Amino acid sequence: MKFGLFYCILFTLLIAQARISSGQFPRFKILAFYSSTVEPDHVAFATDALKFFRDLTSGNGFVLDTTSNMDDLTLPGLKDYSVVMMLNDFPHSQAQRDAFRKYMENGGGWYGFHVAAYNDKDTRWPWYVDFLGGGVFYRNNWPVLPAKLIVDDLKHPVTKGLPETFISPLNEWYQWKPSPRERKNVKVLVTLSADNYPLGLKDIIPDGDLPVVWTNTDYRMIYLNMGHGAGSFGDATQNKLFIAAFRWVVASDKKGNVFEK
Ligand code: ZN
Repeated sequence: MKFGLFYCILFTLLIAQARISSGQFPRFKILAFYSSTVEPDHVAFATDALKFFRDLTSGNGFVLDTTSNMDDLTLPGLKDYSVVMMLNDFPHSQAQRDAFRKYMENGGGWYGFHVAAYNDKDTRWPWYVDFLGGGVFYRNNWPVLPAKLIVDDLKHPVTKGLPETFISPLNEWYQWKPSPRERKNVKVLVTLSADNYPLGLKDIIPDGDLPVVWTNTDYRMIYLNMGHGAGSFGDATQNKLFIAAFRWVVASDKKGNVFEK
């Protein structure tokens, strides 16, 4: 009898657990924007990124919707998405820009790689420059090269558990002027080590501050400098960083941490 009761209780608990679990998944929805008509190396990166993040949906933990149409960037269209990912592009038209700004000002999440933060004298979108920490694209290395990175904060949820330094695979590193680090509302988490200078064979970055991963603390956002060419997802340390950054943006939603529900 005792064993019968034990199994009966165990069975009941398992059923209850299964019911709770089935109500939790998928926990959140992501909308990833990418372009197939930009620089071929940026397309190659997006192809790898889509596979990497799609693999993370295994078990229906979250929904990853993808689009190559930037006109899908509308306020009603983003309503159900916890985070907008920009793999190799950024908003262009005024309507896209207005929708993105409102989405972010209303607590939306943003996870952007590499060229997603690109701006120059022709961009003419001061809000976006400000959103990204005030830096204008200044210079880059060429060809793509690996680089030693320094983890600035080993306690932040994005960088916790990383080594103090690591070698990142091939990338075209973007440097910004002024450095976003100069802004009080920018928290830099990873920086290109000065040990790399001079960095480049054709185009050379000789010196200067080069933040790699940062967040503007006025928004729920994170930017990662990586994103040029295939092979960016072949390094376990860097993959850990990508996933932790992704999880942090999702978890920081003011509506509540979906991982604790
Ligand atoms: Zn690039």
